[in-house]
Parts: sequence; C-alpha cells; structure tokens
Amino acid sequence: MDITYRRMYRLKIKGSFSSAHYLKNYQGACENLHGHNWVVEVEVKGKKLNSIGLLIDFKELKKALKKVLSELDHKLLNELPFFKENNPSSELIAYYIFKRLEEELSAFPEVKVSSVTVFETEGASATYYED
Ligand SMILES: [Zn+2]
Repeated sequence: MDITYRRMYRLKIKGSFSSAHYLKNYQGACENLHGHNWVVEVEVKGKKLNSIGLLIDFKELKKALKKVLSELDHKLLNELPFFKENNPSSELIAYYIFKRLEEELSAFPEVKVSSVTVFETEGASATYYED
C-alpha cells in the first residue's frame, strides 16, 4: 500500500519585534498608543524533502521571517499601509505576517505557510491559518 501521500513535515520557528499600536473604535486602554514586544511563531509544512532530507533550510526560513518582521520593528503599526485600512490587532498582524511570508517563500514551492501565531503578551496570542 502506498502511503507516501500522507507524509507531512512541519517546521516551526520563532521571532520577535517591538512596535507600537493603538486600536481604533475600541473602548478601553488599547485605544491609546502603547507598545508590545511581540513574539511570532511560524509553522510551515510540506510533503517533499530535498536530496539532503530538508523541507527547507531553517536558515532560509529565519531569513524570510526576519525580513518581514524588520518591516514592523520599531514602527507605529497604524502608519503602515495595510494597517491604515485594518486595525493592527494581534489577529490582523498574524494575517499580515502570513501573507508577507507567503511572498517571501515563493521561491520554495514545496513549503506552505501553515500558521502564524502572534503573542501580544506571554499569555495572550492570536493565530491565523488557512484550511
Ligand atoms: Zn496592544
């Protein structure tokens, strides 16, 4: 029986950035300008390993994440084009990083971004993923 189609691999990496934001139309402290040290956990998946047994080199994955996070680091998120239209909530930050990572990883067709989790604090996170 051929079960190779069921084989999947998942890789996870973590990164972080520091930035300020405020939430529009929110009743509470988060409507005021404040900052977070955001922690970002990224999971990618794929079926096919390369000739040396890697889905993707962690180095490449970290490079892509670092590039995306550097665009957010030490910024007021509300001033970035995407977040002028969309509130910079943890949910939408996760969505944004997911979409940017898909672009950065387009050179690696075997690798699919699986989920992005954004931790606003150690105990509070939001995850974006696509079925
Ligand atoms: Zn906040």
